[in-house]
Amino acid sequence: MSGLAQPVSATGAEADRNANLRRLEGCPRPHIFQHEAARSATGGPSQWRCSRCGGVVGGKEQFWYQSGLFDARREAGGR
Ligand SMILES: [Zn+2]
Repeated sequence: MSGLAQPVSATGAEADRNANLRRLEGCPRPHIFQHEAARSATGGPSQWRCSRCGGVVGGKEQFWYQSGLFDARREAGGR
């Protein structure tokens, strides 16, 4: 990469997502997700934070996990 500058915000978000993934994968399990208020400043969706590992997932991921179908790597890195 020589000509194009990387947007700092995008890089930060990427690092944030990777750190979150490591927390989720390093969790002793099972996750204990607790609802957090929506991030109103960014207009983001409501999220759920695991009280054991501190990993954060969205409502949909939390639902899938509770259903026994949660795949942290795919869900958190897929989009
Ligand atoms: Zn956890």
